[in-house]
This record gives sequence, structure tokens and C-alpha cells, in this order.
Amino acid sequence: MSRCKSCGAEITWAVTQQGRVMPLDAAKVLVAIPTGRFVDNGSGQLTPQVEVRQASLTHFATCPHAQQHRKPRQAGVDRDPRVPARGSDSRR
Ligand SMILES: [Zn+2]
Repeated sequence: MSRCKSCGAEITWAVTQQGRVMPLDAAKVLVAIPTGRFVDNGSGQLTPQVEVRQASLTHFATCPHAQQHRKPRQAGVDRDPRVPARGSDSRR
């Protein structure tokens, strides 16, 4: 277990599929991922079906000092053009 150098929160480290190291909150959250299917929930109405999974939040999203993490970098300078933009991941 590691701690964030700026806020002291417990974090773990992980590597993305693009090979980037990123800090994650140690605490897990439950997320509901749509399966794309709809089921009758008993009331006769079709309701979206979800798969519930345990997941980690990126610490950049929850760190109160996240701006400090980003400050030394110039916008766009260190961005790897091979890494797809957010929202275009291939998990679906
Ligand atoms: Zn932090």
C-alpha cells in the first residue's frame, strides 16, 4: 500500500492497457455496467440490465490536490498521440 504524496490518502498503483502507470484509490466502489439488454423487472416494464462489479476510482478524480499533480506539465506537451482519447476505450 502506498500513500499519495500530496494528500496522504491510501492508494495503489496500476498500469493501463496503454502502459501508463496510474494511482488508484485504495477503497473499492461498486459500479453498474449496462449489458445492453433489457429485462422485465416484474412490473411488466422493461428495465436496463446491469452487471455490478467492484472497481477502483482513479486517484486523479478524487485527490483534493489533483491540480498540483498536473501543474508541472504543459497542456498537450507530454500527451502520447497513440493513446486514444477518453471515452473511446474498447471495453464495450
Ligand atoms: Zn492525493
